[in-house]
Amino acid sequence: MSKRKRGSVAHRDRTEFFEEGKRLDADPDTRELANCWLCRTRIDYEMPANTTSDSHNLDHYFPVSTHPELQDDPDNWRHSHASCNQSRGKGDANENGLGEPMPEWW
Ligand SMILES: [Zn+2]
Repeated sequence: MSKRKRGSVAHRDRTEFFEEGKRLDADPDTRELANCWLCRTRIDYEMPANTTSDSHNLDHYFPVSTHPELQDDPDNWRHSHASCNQSRGKGDANENGLGEPMPEWW
């Protein structure tokens, strides 16, 4: 099963991804799963995606720049803050995407 998804289907999946995060966030038992995978704090699911820095943003575990084939693969999607994804930029997850950057005195 490696059939490519059509655009409309991919779009629906993205909406569902946001809705899934919203559902997880609403339940204290699963809230952790809906947190930003970059900074591990809560995302503002009340706001539409990508409207504020605390709002939801669909991030890719493997950046689209290096793994374009995974762009529409839900397994590669992560919940993140719009601001966190932005500051992450095109950086590599293995390098600096999982924590704070090294302090300058390190
Ligand atoms: Zn974040």
